[in-house]
Amino acid sequence: MQHDTAAALAPAPSPIPIRGHAGTAPALHEGAPRAIAPDQWRRLEGHVGEILSALGMDLDTPGTWRTPERFLRALYDATAGYDGDPKLLTAFPAEGGAAADPVGGQIIEGPIAFSALCEHHALPFYGVAHVGYVPGAQIIGISKLTRIVRLFARRFTVQERLGEQIADTLVDLVDPRGVAVRLEASHLCTRMRGVEEHSHTVTTFWRGAFRDPDMRREFLDEAARRRAGA
Ligand SMILES: [Zn+2]
Repeated sequence: MQHDTAAALAPAPSPIPIRGHAGTAPALHEGAPRAIAPDQWRRLEGHVGEILSALGMDLDTPGTWRTPERFLRALYDATAGYDGDPKLLTAFPAEGGAAADPVGGQIIEGPIAFSALCEHHALPFYGVAHVGYVPGAQIIGISKLTRIVRLFARRFTVQERLGEQIADTLVDLVDPRGVAVRLEASHLCTRMRGVEEHSHTVTTFWRGAFRDPDMRREFLDEAARRRAGA
């Protein structure tokens, strides 16, 4: 299921606001580290064991005695985005000097591998992100782009919201002239069941200067080159 290309290259409705839809604004300050008390962990492990057992797992083997505990721990780690990322809070953008450049080239990073959990099934979807922006007066370290992707991917989410949050966070951090995000992911909730075993979903998100179809084409062409390993 690819549905980005035609829409991406068609003339864009304008203007595209630099900010996305209400409610997707970033939450860099949200997310204090979660606290789950030991007795709560034990209770949750009991629930998980009950579910796994009902589904058919034999919990009484050396390989599975600790599976409920390990499963919970893995889920906890996979949703660490709720704890926030202190390194992003201290990510002061550097002066870029790009503001003096009226043309303003794109800064493009990717592929950034990510894994997320779909909020509809609590099963993973995973793939790669490409993030681009046209800087204003500020730029940000490339590694911070990866941190932004991971901050929102390591939660229960949907691909659409993930892209919006990445774009809006970048807007808030560096006040760029435009942002482009492309996400391509495989959803296990689809692949593990039913017929669409090889489907993958592409979503694109545009802000500001990326209302320009040529800008979109440049971004998508570069993302395609990078995916091909060129
Ligand atoms: Zn799902």
